[in-house]
Amino acid sequence: MSAGQVFVVSAPSGAGKSTVVAALRARQPELGYSVSLTTRAPRPGEVDGEHYHFVTRDDFLDRVRAGEMVEHAEVFGNLYGTSAKVVAQSLETGRDILLEIDVAGAAQIKKRFPQAVLVFLLPPSRAELERRLRGRGTEDEATIGLRLKGAARELEQAGHFTHLVINDQVERAVDDLAAIVRAEGLRLARTWESLRGAWGV
Ligand code: ADP
Ligand code: 5GP
Repeated sequence: MSAGQVFVVSAPSGAGKSTVVAALRARQPELGYSVSLTTRAPRPGEVDGEHYHFVTRDDFLDRVRAGEMVEHAEVFGNLYGTSAKVVAQSLETGRDILLEIDVAGAAQIKKRFPQAVLVFLLPPSRAELERRLRGRGTEDEATIGLRLKGAARELEQAGHFTHLVINDQVERAVDDLAAIVRAEGLRLARTWESLRGAWGV
């Protein structure tokens, strides 16, 4: 059995990452997904264990010390991280797994899994990002300002990514992301084993 692949999707806050990833997962439920741990308070409507595992700062830091996190980062004052066990289990069973994480976390994943596919998602313009952040209505003005500054910083690091998807129309962005996942599944190294028996080679 061939190993699964790690897909990372990063984007400035408000770019539409959650929207696009949720639509992709609805379309491709077989794609594995890692629910992150965070010390951030839940937003209205967020469900523990579904959107995030909401934990205390002490609990989070204990897990980091115990080596339970494959990557972690502090984003806008809160800690976020990915369980090493969840990723390892997925890859061992040949299942692809998608991580929705920030650019610092993406760099850690790239180090750990050099073959990982890193997708950067961007709205068509800065003005559109600002409109979406305001439209979501989940952050106050000061936080929106911080997130716009953070977006500029993240953009400077986007050169490390392997793919860029523009989230203009959600459906189009989901098509693009699905195409990237599909193309990875067609790599010779992954398809070859399944053909060997039929071809007697
Ligand atoms: P992120 O997870 O990147 O922080 P969200 O998925 O929460 O961003 O999206 C931010 C806001 O932008 C939400 O209100 C969402 O409905 C909206 N949005 C997402 N994608 C698009 C798009 N392609 N066109 C217009 N609005 C969008
Ligand atoms: P939000 O608080 O808006 O849900 O997420 C804020 C930022 O944290 C986003 O850029 C998101 O991608 C990032 N994030 C979410 N989960 C993780 C994670 O497990 N690891 C890292 N490094 N970043 C994460």
